Amino acid sequence: MGKDIQYQLIRSRRKTIGIQVKDGMVTVRAPLRTSAQEIEAFVERSRSWIEKHLRLQEEMKKRQEETGMKKLTRQELEALAQEAVRRIPERVAYYAPKVGVTYGNITIRNQRSRWGSCSAKGNLNFNCLLCLAPPGAMDAVVVHELCHRLEMNHSKRFYEEVLRVYPNYYKDHAWLKEHGRELLDRLP
Ligand SMILES: [Zn+2]
Repeated sequence: MGKDIQYQLIRSRRKTIGIQVKDGMVTVRAPLRTSAQEIEAFVERSRSWIEKHLRLQEEMKKRQEETGMKKLTRQELEALAQEAVRRIPERVAYYAPKVGVTYGNITIRNQRSRWGSCSAKGNLNFNCLLCLAPPGAMDAVVVHELCHRLEMNHSKRFYEEVLRVYPNYYKDHAWLKEHGRELLDRLP
């Protein structure tokens, strides 16, 4: 036998013993009257299953920390800002004639709240974290903000214009809806 498996025991009006492994924690759910020995024996019989899932979750956590999820360092953020300064104005210059609008200054920021914005004077702001999103997501935000030069609202007309210029808008923007929070959370 290996070392004891640590677990949280929750008793309730259920009929069978159940085990859950989540976030590296083991939870055992047992009926009110099941004896401690029975529970111990059940956990012991499930040992290889529990250990396998603990190991998989540990590996997944490590992978997430190594890749996507960890906080950006100041250097990484500076590199990202430089990349954004190089890439985003190029996309704006590409799409502006397609929308048929002019624009003012382009400012790159790192902000927790938004991906882009457009002022009444036509100055554009973009979040440098867009460089960590798929290219289509960046384009979707660029077209969105440029279309605000025509419509300073999110009306039906506004979205018709967005879709005319960028038919894939909803699909590409959906990526940000789904994963955007993870990106924003990477700001230190
Ligand atoms: Zn908008």
